[in-house]
Amino acid sequence: MDKIIFADANSDYEKAHYVICGVPFDGTSSYRLGSRLAPDEMRAASYSFETYSSFFDYDLADVDIHDAGNLEVADRIDETLLSISKHADKFVNDGKIPIMLGGEHSLSYPFVKACKNKYPELGFVVLDAHMDMREEFMNEKNSHACISRHVIEDLTIKYVSIGIRSGTRDEYDYVSKNKIRMFSAEDVHTKGIEAIISEFHDYIKGPVYLSIDMDAIDPAYAPALGTPEPYGITPRDVRAVIASIAPYVVGFDLVEIAPAFDSGGTSVLGAKLVRDFIAAHARTG
Ligand code: MN
Ligand code: MN
Repeated sequence: MDKIIFADANSDYEKAHYVICGVPFDGTSSYRLGSRLAPDEMRAASYSFETYSSFFDYDLADVDIHDAGNLEVADRIDETLLSISKHADKFVNDGKIPIMLGGEHSLSYPFVKACKNKYPELGFVVLDAHMDMREEFMNEKNSHACISRHVIEDLTIKYVSIGIRSGTRDEYDYVSKNKIRMFSAEDVHTKGIEAIISEFHDYIKGPVYLSIDMDAIDPAYAPALGTPEPYGITPRDVRAVIASIAPYVVGFDLVEIAPAFDSGGTSVLGAKLVRDFIAAHARTG
């Protein structure tokens, strides 16, 4: 099969400001497998859109984007994280904005770490249905159910999560004990996303990594997920977060789509959010 690149990502690496890469790995996924197929599904879906975004009044044809393809993965998560970290470090040290298409959520770690090494004051904003605050899950420390815990404990305490509606009692205790800034899907529903954004916007100003676990979004909009969770936020809520913090973002990922579980709509939405991020970021220079 010919390799497919993300739409409008035809710039050389040297020239590009944005570098897209796929990480086709779903080895620790606990419920439904298949997110390893998401990078290429999103690439295919990315051709359904105009280059011009009316919402952001920006044309992606004017941006230098490179698609580095899918990074090599191993059978095990530990080796996979090690091998992709070399690429993450290179992209960030070369002055690129990395855009990682997962794959599962544990893959964010080396990208966040690469950004943290370059920007010591890095903040982290994550959209997710799940806490991901376990120390380990099914005997695996690098499970996708642990990513937020590792980011907070190893990389940055400047942390905000949005869309949360699932966790163990221990995870909820950990969050309240450590006064972690967490906005639930119910908070978004009752207060509105703009009110939520204004609550964390000043806190997060400065270099920030934005991680979108697609299951933050309600399964009615995004049914093709590894671990779907009802009562979610909407695609417009996610776009509002992207629009408000894009100017500060130094690294971005979108993870946890399992394409087999719908007729393509979730990958279309994922591809759109990636394009919206680039437009929102690029228009601010
Ligand atoms: Mn997650
Ligand atoms: Mn999740």
